[in-house]
Amino acid sequence: MLNQNTDIRYLKGIGERRAELFNKLGVFTIGDLLRYLPRSYEDRTDVREIRDINEGESLCVKGSLASGIRSFRARTGARVIQVRISDGTGILNITWFNAPYVEKTLKSDMSFTFFGKINRRGTMFEMINPVIEPESISGDKMGKILPVYPCTKGLTQNNIRTAVENALNNIEGKIEDIIPQTIRKKYILMSADEAIRTVHMPTNFDMFEEARRTLAFEEFLILQMGVASAKQYTKGKKAVPIKDVKCIADFSKELSFELTYAQKRVINEISADIKKNTPMNRLVQGDVGSGKTLVAAAAMYAVAKSGYTSALMAPTEVLAKQHYKSLSKLYAKFGIKTAFLSGGQKAAERRENTELIESGEAKVVIGTHALITGKIKIPNLALAITDEQHRFGVRQRTVLSGEGDVHTLVMTATPIPRTLSLILYGDLDVSVIDELPPGRKPISTMAVGENSRKKVENFVLKKLDEGRQAYFICPLVEESEAIEANAVETYLAELKKGAYKGRRIEALHGRMKPAEKEKIMQRFASGETEALVSTTVVEVGVDVPNATVMVIENAERFGLSQLHQLRGRVGRGEHQSYCILICGIMGNTIAERMKIMCDTNDGFKISEKDLELRGPGEFLGTRQHGLPSMKAGNLISDMQILRDAHNAALEIFDEDPTLSEPENAKIKDCIKKNMENMGNILN
Ligand code: ADP
Ligand code: MG
Repeated sequence: MLNQNTDIRYLKGIGERRAELFNKLGVFTIGDLLRYLPRSYEDRTDVREIRDINEGESLCVKGSLASGIRSFRARTGARVIQVRISDGTGILNITWFNAPYVEKTLKSDMSFTFFGKINRRGTMFEMINPVIEPESISGDKMGKILPVYPCTKGLTQNNIRTAVENALNNIEGKIEDIIPQTIRKKYILMSADEAIRTVHMPTNFDMFEEARRTLAFEEFLILQMGVASAKQYTKGKKAVPIKDVKCIADFSKELSFELTYAQKRVINEISADIKKNTPMNRLVQGDVGSGKTLVAAAAMYAVAKSGYTSALMAPTEVLAKQHYKSLSKLYAKFGIKTAFLSGGQKAAERRENTELIESGEAKVVIGTHALITGKIKIPNLALAITDEQHRFGVRQRTVLSGEGDVHTLVMTATPIPRTLSLILYGDLDVSVIDELPPGRKPISTMAVGENSRKKVENFVLKKLDEGRQAYFICPLVEESEAIEANAVETYLAELKKGAYKGRRIEALHGRMKPAEKEKIMQRFASGETEALVSTTVVEVGVDVPNATVMVIENAERFGLSQLHQLRGRVGRGEHQSYCILICGIMGNTIAERMKIMCDTNDGFKISEKDLELRGPGEFLGTRQHGLPSMKAGNLISDMQILRDAHNAALEIFDEDPTLSEPENAKIKDCIKKNMENMGNILN
């Protein structure tokens, strides 16, 4: 007898070699196999008259031969068999390739059932390579709904179907439930055993939908409980209460501009959090250019005035340096010392900064990953801020806040639709800066094809002659720094050979040494260079108000949110700014996506559209954000199930905060396993 932990190789019909193929699909045990879900189904219960069939449908037709059997060899070498069949309501063409057994099966005086997909050829419908079964024998091929599994080379649909069937028939007892019984009752869910049996072998689609809902719920519940457990974890924690937050008024007085209403509101929300002796866990969402840095700076100011230290971590060297430059100048006015830490730093500079930090002299520490990967310990750390700009995953966020006894703030420029923020940041409170500083002119965006290149060049040259500067974003390349560097250099050479001959253009890419990057950025910021060629991988947070033109090559290959991020590099000064999207190809869907970019500057709208058009995995980049890929659930269309699971997660923790009740043992296990990938801690 088998149980869920049995290795797949002990299943009948699976040898060493096939077991390895299953391993490739992530299936190691019988339990894994049972939760290996079909990606779609073949509905062989749907029998149709020929006059009722439509192109693109997969269905069954019953009929007999209305022609002779044509059998020949095609030019490609394939053996072809062609027949026409009739069911009295119409005629259907059928073609098989390389199916010698069919010739033996087909008889002119018999009736058959055919299952396959309907194509149109000219005015006729046809089926290619249908499954065939004589009507007289009630075989096992027809009259049921068959699962279709994601395959891998060497493993056929039938191999997987047979393996699943064997597993379901030979497993000892019932498949264990993960969802506690009280929750299953309350939310009217199937048992795991019933749900799993049903998704593999549904008898009808209503039952299937109910089973799928149960499995999606299970999946979401594990996820949501993981997120809730992170919150649970910080609940008992203490953080330094920052007594004086009113002093932030002095800080804002020193600024050369008035804070926006949204900035003030978010600063108030943060102030209320850091006044408490429990840790703040807050996410600040704000479109590019909405002024998130100043909000963070205000909080760090209050912390410094109370005698404690703050750390601000940025995803890239250039960005960290930029934060350091502007903030250290600002803080100097108040006598607050700032230190900087990055991987690319020279030894002497590093030593100096380390001293500043370790002596407690620097009350504001700014840096890159070096802040968490180095051995350095920041004394009296009370506030940890991560400027995420789309880059960090859940893990690093947790590490910077260390044992969870400091206030944490995460800033992101990606306006994440509420659905996803529940999953990614369910453990955080959310503040939104939904207002740009006054006087910003909306960026004028246009999407053009290859045939408008000349026009674009003339336009850009005109702007350069007016004294403005431009960014060129090079076509998207694979995520390897070497390949990327090469692509950037090649693109730069092309520009300089063509219309931009004699212009002062430089390239910037991830392969360069920090000091070199710094110099190049410096020359661009000072106006010495007219244009900068780069990829998206490079530091997008830089601020050069005189740069008013952004040209993006192969715009069709970028996600909308990413285009919006890139576009946010311009439109930061007094002059009208432009974003030109050059598309290598221009189909309907591409045109639709580009139109959204041209029509709106609203990051929230764009991200929602993006999510709708591309799905959550691609939207965020699963890997970077620790966003799990769902098997049964869909993060967009199953919003209601997700909400239910979210509530259920809170209910379970309310009843049993440490998950020590026996009925929660199984789910506790699953959360642990799941969270290991997300870098959170569950006791
Ligand atoms: P982001 O939210 O993209 O990080 P930044 O914090 O870099 O935005 O701010 C973008 C620019 O806007 C900076 O040059 C900053 O000095 C400026 N800025 C921020 N807040 C205001 C404001 N209230 N009024 C005018 N300019 C502002
Ligand atoms: Mg920023």
